[in-house]
Amino acid sequence: MTNGTQASPRVVALVGPYSSGKTTLLENILFMTDTTRRRANGERVFADDGVEAKALSMGVDINVAEAGYLGDRYIFIDCPGSIELMQEMRNAAYAVDVAIVVTEPEPDKLQALSPLLHELEAGGIPHLLFINKIDHSNVHIRDLARSLDEVSVLPSVLRHVPIREDGKINGFVDLASRRAYRYGVDGSREITETAASYIEQVADERFQMMERLADFHDDLMEELLEDIDPGTEEIFQDLGADLCAGNIMPVLMGSALNSYGLRRLMKVLRHEMPDFSLACNRLMPPKSEDKVAYVLKTKYLPHMGKVSFARVLKGTVKDGDQVGDSKISGLFKISGPELKKIGQANAGDIVAIARLGGAAAGDTLGGTGAQKPEHLHAVYAQALEVHDRKDEARLSEALTKLIEEDPSFELEHREDTGQLLLWGQGEIHMRTARARLVDKYGVGVAFSFPRVPYKETIRRSKLQHTRYKKQSGGHGQFGDVVIEVKPRGLGQGFEFEENIHGGSVPKQYIQSVEAGVKEYLKQGPLGFPVVDVAVTLKDGQCHNVDSSDMAFKTAGRMAMADALPGCEPVLLEPIEHVRVMAPSIHMAKINGMITSRRGQIMGFDARAGWPGWDLIDAQMPASEMQDLIIELRSVTQGTGTFEHEFDHLNELGGKLKEKVLDGHVVARRT
Ligand code: GDP
Repeated sequence: MTNGTQASPRVVALVGPYSSGKTTLLENILFMTDTTRRRANGERVFADDGVEAKALSMGVDINVAEAGYLGDRYIFIDCPGSIELMQEMRNAAYAVDVAIVVTEPEPDKLQALSPLLHELEAGGIPHLLFINKIDHSNVHIRDLARSLDEVSVLPSVLRHVPIREDGKINGFVDLASRRAYRYGVDGSREITETAASYIEQVADERFQMMERLADFHDDLMEELLEDIDPGTEEIFQDLGADLCAGNIMPVLMGSALNSYGLRRLMKVLRHEMPDFSLACNRLMPPKSEDKVAYVLKTKYLPHMGKVSFARVLKGTVKDGDQVGDSKISGLFKISGPELKKIGQANAGDIVAIARLGGAAAGDTLGGTGAQKPEHLHAVYAQALEVHDRKDEARLSEALTKLIEEDPSFELEHREDTGQLLLWGQGEIHMRTARARLVDKYGVGVAFSFPRVPYKETIRRSKLQHTRYKKQSGGHGQFGDVVIEVKPRGLGQGFEFEENIHGGSVPKQYIQSVEAGVKEYLKQGPLGFPVVDVAVTLKDGQCHNVDSSDMAFKTAGRMAMADALPGCEPVLLEPIEHVRVMAPSIHMAKINGMITSRRGQIMGFDARAGWPGWDLIDAQMPASEMQDLIIELRSVTQGTGTFEHEFDHLNELGGKLKEKVLDGHVVARRT
């Protein structure tokens, strides 16, 4: 908690779903604290004018701004709301002292908070909830607070009771102080007498609030049991201590647009939010040097190159200093899109650092063994292909930057399909990648759904004699082999043996035959890589002059090409093991979705540590999973997610097989 005089700025994240009002809240806090001028209608103080934001018509980056309030410095970090940009929020929220979760007041919007609240809880980040847009809401705040308990891991503690007049909320009673306030323009409030009609409700809600706090305070519990009123001071103290300890989630309300409740919010921050030491404990590496900084964001700006936003954890950092292995070449205060050069930054500050080589978002400089925010599981992939091969090097350079900026992207080079895959969090996330790669870095690259890595195998054995003979003046080519091809069990892989007697194929050529066989396996009779076959070289013939490595390799490949079409080739499709996680209320729809995607449900359980959530184990063909996350989010109000890994290959027959083979032949011809 604050003593009101500390030098470190107090760092606050604004998080919440898209359009809940985070940016409006920040803008009006800045206005209220005289940091910025009043914005004109529709004008944004901090418009995100990066190419990504323009391409998506929404902010995709964090926005950092500083304000002074009653002698303290506050740095606000406004985080993007989309669940697909959660990594950006995760990296930033890890560095803050407290997070304000902004939500719209409709109960059906609360579901969307669930992943976010778990995220903050798991990261040990104290957070409070600001129920926004109460100016146009008919919702009963108490019902809302109750349903919050279904989505929040921490007990939520309602701090106000709204006052309504003519059906509109126009003020509130603070439950700790029992004072009533009427909302004024621009965040000012006026103390009013508690309306007689509210006295009973206030007493009731206040008691409920104290009961929740009493779970963490024996003194308060005793007072409640003995019917003693603890008094305002004690309640404020307990509220602050419990926010800092991560025991509770205080719930405030207001209207960002009309500046309702903003002063109360700032006062709560001033008196109750944790000081820098809590974040410092979370972030400080076990072995630290004199100067330590945590990088919460990396971005590449057109005129400056690489810029890292960092929170200084220890020491005073100056331009030119070395922090860990990195040298500081330019230090800036961040004010929305503007960077203002400064000479030094102290512990607790958030600053921008130019050209911090080697450091990516989530890294801690100046120490070893620091915890790092985990990377989100990738759930959506696109194949990348440059329009012009000359652009390959530029693509790879741009991808390195992309992943440095956003570590929830991953690259995969798939040998079996020959494609380069970019994995990420969904369509919006992929659109940010496209905006960066194409619009920002100017690489001509096409995005498409990845090819499914089908395979094939055989069901029947065959003995095959093939001779490769070529006479074209000078040296000829001669290789003669007898091979036996046999199917192997699912997942047993490829095996090559030789059973040559009397040197009919000389030892040095045996591996050439194997090489030829392997080469053929890259594309079998159906057009896919062949798996799970055993090949035995049983006999053959050699020519003193014309035989060579190359001739036997060709003979091996040709023998396979002759044999396999007669071995009853079958198509195999990859099946993934999927764990789908979502709030329990959506499970019926998810079951239906899994079945309609040819999935097989293997098990069902409560999701550990996530009250109100379930987990379904299933197996599902990879071909059905490419857009799974899109449907999953649409049936779960954006909350559902999944993890997946390859499980096994399964024979695919009938019409689906024909479809794959048709598509594949067409694909190969073009
Ligand atoms: P963000 O995506 O969370 O940053 O949301 P914005 O701050 O951009 O707000 C989304 C929309 O909600 C904008 O049109 C705001 O004007 C509007 N808005 C924000 N706060 C309030 C509020 O308190 N009341 C009302 N009625 N609208 C609001």
